Amino acid sequence: MYDVAVIGAGPAGASAAIFLAKAGQKTLVIDNGRSVTRRALIKNHYGVMEITGPAMVDLGKEHAKMLGADVISAQVTNVTKSGDHFDLATDQDAYQASHVILATGLYTDLIEQIGVRTKPGTEPRIKTVVDATLEGKTSIEGIWAAGTVAGVSMHTIITAGDGAKVAVNLLSEIKGERYVDHDVFKSEQ
Ligand SMILES: Cc1cc2nc3c(=O)[nH]c(=O)nc-3n(C[C@H](O)[C@H](O)[C@H](O)COP(=O)(O)OP(=O)(O)OC[C@H]3O[C@@H](n4cnc5c(N)ncnc54)[C@H](O)[C@@H]3O)c2cc1C
Repeated sequence: MYDVAVIGAGPAGASAAIFLAKAGQKTLVIDNGRSVTRRALIKNHYGVMEITGPAMVDLGKEHAKMLGADVISAQVTNVTKSGDHFDLATDQDAYQASHVILATGLYTDLIEQIGVRTKPGTEPRIKTVVDATLEGKTSIEGIWAAGTVAGVSMHTIITAGDGAKVAVNLLSEIKGERYVDHDVFKSEQ
């Protein structure tokens, strides 16, 4: 049983998983390897002069793993509520999680299948997005959405930031108070 299952390991999903795993949540990331970010050459991500899309996606997954997340390659085929948790079916194994974050990028087929409410997208070439609150909550309690599929501007700094935002909001709900993750640099002086 996982605390949180993140579907999608592009900038949004991996960033959410980094915050969740670092906060001690048992975190599962499931990705089917179809990130659009793999087609990008990124020169506008704060703090990074230039990075290829494949390098960014691989680094994101490694970072989440290093902090304790389980990252697996699979296609999620269904998500169903079962009492106080969700059952996730994939083309390989089945998993259980208390919370789910949808970070599926351009793909809304699974989302529409499981009955999460969607709406027309407003960003260029994005037809459909999840109808999520500003916090990232969807129409199904316990399922959240982040990144391109949640309708934010399609840039890595923004989708990654949105994944982090949604993770912080979910962590705040789990912990019952606003969550902050700050590590402090001690200068020598
Ligand atoms: C050609 C190109 C160039 C770009 N250049 C730039 C740039 O220079 N600068 C910039 O900031 N942005 C750029 N972008 C945009 C950037 O890649 C995206 O905005 C952003 O990274 C999308 O992040 P995401 O996590 O929302 O989606 P994605 O990175 O697409 O990740 C979604 C993940 O979910 C997975 N997934 C979906 N459904 C399932 C399922 N059912 N089961 C398992 N996994 C699933 C997908 O395989 C994918 O890995 C570019 C995009 C393209 C296409």
